Amino acid sequence: MPELPEVETVKRGLQLALAGDAIVAVEVLRDASIAFPDVDAFIAALPGHKFGQVLRRGKYLLIELDRGAGLACHLRMSGRLIVREASESGARVSKPARAAKAATKAATTATKLAKTAKTIRAPQFLRVRIMLASGRELHFEDMRVFGRLWFKPKGKTFEDVIPSLVQLGVEPLESLTSAHLSTAFKGKNQAVKTALLDQHILAGVGNIYADESLFLSGIHPTIAAGKVTDEQLNKLVENVQLVLSRAIESGGSTLRDYTDSSGVNGNYQNLAWVYGREGEPCRQCSSLIERIKLNGRSSHFCIQCQPLKRKISKPIRKPKK
Ligand SMILES: [Zn+2]
Repeated sequence: MPELPEVETVKRGLQLALAGDAIVAVEVLRDASIAFPDVDAFIAALPGHKFGQVLRRGKYLLIELDRGAGLACHLRMSGRLIVREASESGARVSKPARAAKAATKAATTATKLAKTAKTIRAPQFLRVRIMLASGRELHFEDMRVFGRLWFKPKGKTFEDVIPSLVQLGVEPLESLTSAHLSTAFKGKNQAVKTALLDQHILAGVGNIYADESLFLSGIHPTIAAGKVTDEQLNKLVENVQLVLSRAIESGGSTLRDYTDSSGVNGNYQNLAWVYGREGEPCRQCSSLIERIKLNGRSSHFCIQCQPLKRKISKPIRKPKK
């Protein structure tokens, strides 16, 4: 599943790839991939818009368009937003009818594009195809079909069309502090790993990076969130940011078949301390990495480096004089 670093990688790729380009036509191959507005309105609204800044909030991609409009995307389990050259547009498009329909509504150029769409092969799992003025195509591909796209009309904010954006927690790379975690975790009996995954507390931190950050901070994943000490929280904030930044630098994770906006694999997997390493020796102490299920999610840890009970050294008695 794409996590924050993967989405950030896609964001950066799209920013470069889409700059200066514009939308000429849209074809929706799977209606349920469009969250807002309805499919016909989505197809009619996009053509003619130029691309602006590409932003990210949590795991949402927010693409600003000209004239106050916008296009948002959540990749969920397996979604990909990829700019493809027209020549690499893969299996036959089964329903060019939608593009033709949009053409009658929007522009005459779209009719031509809908015709050419019959002759080029579209990739498997292509759900939405957005034809660009440059001749390339922006593809939304999604095998597991949980991903969604939204069109933001002029006069509305992204929060207006995606209400769950309002409830998102802080951005871990920009505004996370140990004071924020301390307040959010106070009195919580929930496991610290589960609390870290709570999107209302932190936006975009998922399973892989939660395991990695807890390992580097020496915190066992099952410890109650409310019992984590201030000292540990300081470390945790530092390590969440370190792990995410490092993953962004390496282009996101290759865990599952993840690829960036141009279809290139990331490299995080080779750097993982514990994630996906069950039964392998810890890179710090050689103990075997363990895996447990926590709230339905696999959690990887090293029992030596992340002890359940903190070892408290005995106070040294001052020699009596
Ligand atoms: Zn260890």
